[in-house]
This record gives sequence, C-alpha cells and structure tokens, in this order.
Amino acid sequence: MPQTVDALVTPGAGQPFERSTIQRRDPGPHDVVIDIHYAGICHSDIHTAREEWGPASFPLTPGHEIAGVVAAVGDSVTTHAVGDRVGVGCFVDSCRECENCKAGEEQYCLRGEVGTYNAQTYDGEQTQGGYSRSIVVDENYVLRIPEGVELDVAAPLLCAGITLYSPLHHWGAGPGKRVAIVGMGGLGHMGVKIASALGAEVTVLSQTLSKEEDGRRLGADHFYATSDKDTFKKLRGHFDLIVNTVSANLPLDRYLSMLRLDGAMVNVGLPEEPENFRPFSLAGMRRTLAGSKIGGIRETQEMLDFCAEHGLGAEIEKITVDDVNEAWERVIASDVRYRFVIDIASFDK
Ligand code: NAP
Ligand code: ZN
Ligand code: ZN
Repeated sequence: MPQTVDALVTPGAGQPFERSTIQRRDPGPHDVVIDIHYAGICHSDIHTAREEWGPASFPLTPGHEIAGVVAAVGDSVTTHAVGDRVGVGCFVDSCRECENCKAGEEQYCLRGEVGTYNAQTYDGEQTQGGYSRSIVVDENYVLRIPEGVELDVAAPLLCAGITLYSPLHHWGAGPGKRVAIVGMGGLGHMGVKIASALGAEVTVLSQTLSKEEDGRRLGADHFYATSDKDTFKKLRGHFDLIVNTVSANLPLDRYLSMLRLDGAMVNVGLPEEPENFRPFSLAGMRRTLAGSKIGGIRETQEMLDFCAEHGLGAEIEKITVDDVNEAWERVIASDVRYRFVIDIASFDK
C-alpha cells in the first residue's frame, strides 16, 4: 500500500503552497525510505514551479536538497541501514547503461535521468520532491551524509554544493588559480567556500558590496561590485575561471573580458531567456564559454566527504513549512543569507 505523507503542494504555476498530502510508493527490494528532516530551497524550485523553464506538472511538491534519516530499507539494500544519515539530490534514477551513467555522470544520462520532482519515473509515475515528510528512493541514488556535517547545513550541499564542486574540480580550481564566483546566493556562497578550500585565489563578483563582509568570512580574497563599471576595467584579462551562478541574464561580453588566455567561464545559473555574446570575446584570448549541471552520484559523495573533511556546510536560515511562500519571494529579491532550509518537523505544529 502506498503511504500518504504530509507535503507542501502548489496547485498551479505561481500559486502559493498549501499543506496537503502526497503518495509515496511501497518500498521495493532496492528502495530506501527516508524520513526527511530538512529540505533546502533552490532557485530551480522557483524557476520550475513558475514555469519559467516550460510547462510543469501540477499539483507539484518541489525540493531536491534533501537530508534525513533512513526509516526502512528493502530486502536487497546493502548500502544503507535504518538510522543512517542520508541525502538525496536532483535525480532519483537514471538508465545505468549509457556511457555517461557508466562513467558516473548520471546527471547527463542519455535516456534522461529521473528528476527528484516534476518528472516521471521510467514506469510513468510522477515524482514529487523534498518539501514533504518522507521519500522513497533507490539505494544507488541515496548519498551518505558524513559525521561532522549537521543535517540542516548538509541539505543544500545536495544541489548547491555539488553544482559548484563539480565545475571547480573539472576546470582545475586550486593553488595558483584565480577563480571568480559571480552571484553570492545559495550556489555562489558554496562556490566561495569550496574554491577557497581547494586553495584557489577567490574573488566574488556581486551586484553590490553589501555581502562583502560575509564573502570574506566565507573565504573570498577579493570582493567587487558589478554595478561599478570600473570593476570590469580593473579585472580585464585576470581570471583563469569564472563560475556564473546568476539566475538572470548578464552582459556576457563584459564578463568574458575578465578571462586571461585560455580562461573559461562556466555558466551554472539557468535564466529563462537566451544569452548573447560576441564571438570576438572568445576568439581574442582563446577563451571557453561552458556550462555544467549538478554532478554524478560518485562525485556528490566525494563532495560531501570533502565538505566534512574541511568543516564546510551551507549558511542557512531555517524556516517552517508555513514560511515557504514568503521565503520564495525573498529568494527572488536576492534577500537570503544564504539558503533557506525548511524544518520538516514543523509539519507537527
Ligand atoms: P539564488 O540563491 O537566488 O542566487 C542567485 C544570485 O544571483 C543572487 O544571490 C544574486 O547574487 C545574483 N543575482 C540575482 N539576480 C541578479 C541580477 N538580475 N543581476 C545580477 N545578479 C543577480 O539562486 P541559486 O539557488 O543559487 O541558483 C542560481 C541559479 O542557478 C538559478 O538559475 C538556478 O536555477 C541555477 N541552478 C543551476 C544548477 C545546475 O546544475 N546548473 C543547479 C542548481 C541551480 P548577488 O546578490 O551576490 O549579486
Ligand atoms: Zn537545485
Ligand atoms: Zn544513462
């Protein structure tokens, strides 16, 4: 018998959340049942539910930054046990057979990985996310949260953390490299922490200087306002790597001009409108303009272990289930320091 569980549900695009219920499947032999303790609010939840990326399936329960404790396991589960601290990120299945899945890059599955919410399983069942009491997930898509990272500050690592860790790793952020993080929101603030822990020289490019003190505390060596035109002049030809986390469109040519020879700008922010740039901005310094999407399961585990080793978690503001509508407005207004995390126990209140 499927279980009925408490959840926050939005009935349609742009409509507020209501306390309601959703169904979770009966655990199969390979499934893990997770009592969700915390769920982070990612800007992607908002893009999706407001249909900024295209039509969504309603009623919808978002949430792909999930941290909790294993409540039950199927008969064949070997990797997780009741009582373990675990997390779930942006996808809950993939084909496991294509070259990308085999390479541990399930997020680029050629059949299409199954999103944690607003997606269909390969059996055609609608998926629903972490703004809920519990979730049932195949053991291969469940991460271990190491000792030393509390569940509340771990939740945002499952999307924001891995989305920055993966490109920082892939493009070689480390000692001797100048790395810029554009936008210091949920993703960006984790980028500052991780790039700094990797040993890179880290610069934040934020709209204003209002977050400068925080940025330096999180590990930034330099902090500039992009509202100041001089910033782009001062930093011309400066960076090896720019990671752009901004949820809105930017004048890309100005950002590309800050890359040195062979530098790369990686977009992880996903605004709804297309971007424009002049090919001259790349050709003149053999620059690369790239993109990156979350990370695979193996790399996500590596990121969690790295964060535990370096004492990294997200900077969070904890909220109740009844605060989510207001919190979304604050995310859109860039008024969050630096991730809202829903305390799922507040369903009891
Ligand atoms: P967020 O917390 O809202 O942070 C976005 C930051 O961008 C803001 O804090 C702000 O930083 C800056 N910003 C916002 N509007 C801006 C504007 N009009 N001009 C310039 N800067 C602006 O969002 P998030 O959760 O970090 O997500 C960021 C983006 O990444 C979203 O588009 C999301 O969908 C996407 N995302 C992608 C992946 C992936 O795998 N590629 C994964 C997760 C999320 P300052 O205040 O410092 O200027
Ligand atoms: Zn996300
Ligand atoms: Zn695949």
